[in-house]
Amino acid sequence: MTYSYLSHLYCPKCGHTYDTSEQHQLCTCGSPLLVDYDLNAISSVLSPDVLTLREPSLWRYHELLPVEVEANVVSLGEGMTPLTPFPRLGKDMALEKLYMKDEGLIPTGSFKARGAAVGVSKASEVGVKELAMPTNGNAGAAWALYAARAGMKATIVMPNDALEITRNEVALSGASLYLVNGLISDAGKIVGKAVKDYNLYDASTLKEPYRIEGKKTMGLEIAEQFNWQLPDVILYPTGGGVGLIGIYKALKELKALGWVEGKMPRLVAVQSTGCAPIVKAWEEGRRESDYWNDSETLAFGINVPKALGDFLVLDAIYATDGCAIAVDDESMLHEQAKIAQMEGNFICPEGAATFTAARKLREDGWIGADETVVVLNTGAGIKYPDTVQVKPEMLEKEDTIIKKGEESKN
Ligand SMILES: *Cc1c(COP(=O)(O)O)cnc(C)c1O
Ligand SMILES: [Zn+2]
Repeated sequence: MTYSYLSHLYCPKCGHTYDTSEQHQLCTCGSPLLVDYDLNAISSVLSPDVLTLREPSLWRYHELLPVEVEANVVSLGEGMTPLTPFPRLGKDMALEKLYMKDEGLIPTGSFKARGAAVGVSKASEVGVKELAMPTNGNAGAAWALYAARAGMKATIVMPNDALEITRNEVALSGASLYLVNGLISDAGKIVGKAVKDYNLYDASTLKEPYRIEGKKTMGLEIAEQFNWQLPDVILYPTGGGVGLIGIYKALKELKALGWVEGKMPRLVAVQSTGCAPIVKAWEEGRRESDYWNDSETLAFGINVPKALGDFLVLDAIYATDGCAIAVDDESMLHEQAKIAQMEGNFICPEGAATFTAARKLREDGWIGADETVVVLNTGAGIKYPDTVQVKPEMLEKEDTIIKKGEESKN
């Protein structure tokens, strides 16, 4: 049985194609490369009902993933995360069918595990022994830990103010960790130099072709979890935009396979008002974005001033009649607390920003009351303990609890 129906790599800008048996980074024209499969062959050997019998991880879609030999799979059981209805929050937003895809429940606590699992597995298959990457934290943590599981070396560079827990994850994995007094773009320049100096595999966002393939499984799972009936709107917190590009790619592949039909979900890129290059480009009707100066937001995962795949994100938005929208940190934190109170889930700031955007788009009428809406929560709130400040009352040992406005029963 064929494990993967991987066919070749191609450039979405200049059309150049590449063979998958060797290591590849960007196209010679500078564009990211995308992966193609023999979808005709897949549709003749695989049907959706077979999938439901498989293990609950993203590897259930192995025909649509790039790893060719099953023994090369490096896995911690990632994928098949819950798609949870949010009825109380939905009511509060006047949305009848609101769902959250919860990527907080995945190894390393963020959806970066998907890209890392597939990216590291494929890197290992093509003989990579050492990789390097810049990160805002979560990606570095995921790639360092999956690299450790694969027995591969990793060099990770992150901004000094990236999430502290991700430093610890990287360091504990045995990877070489460097902090930089600057942004992810500065970390990227340093990694670029190290890659040349030491001939390392560059695992920067979209500089290797396979991270998208891991992230696309979010789209495959959403379709499967809705029993192959697509939702109306999918909202995604967008930094590098890999998840959004991946979800769009997944939906196109499913259409080509004939497993889903009808209108594509409208894809929404959510950014922070402190870093909104994609939103600006979309508002101006452009197909590429400009570098966003002095970017700043508490939602570190979406603090990306210029994404290499911006044109692919914008393509996906235009092609699905989607939109791009920015929200501020204050409303994001407000929404984060509301979700914990109404739905019992402590989600990450990026996810909270995405719910804030759903609320706004509903208020503006861009989303209708009866539409099925999926919000991606890309990570666990507990990875970001410092975004929440609390001052509980301190008791002495002999104190009793006095509830305000309530009389004690004795
Ligand atoms: C990296 C990250 C994002 C942004 O992901 P992209 O696919 O690069 O746009 C969103 N949320 C969290 C928690 C992240 O770590
Ligand atoms: Zn090209």
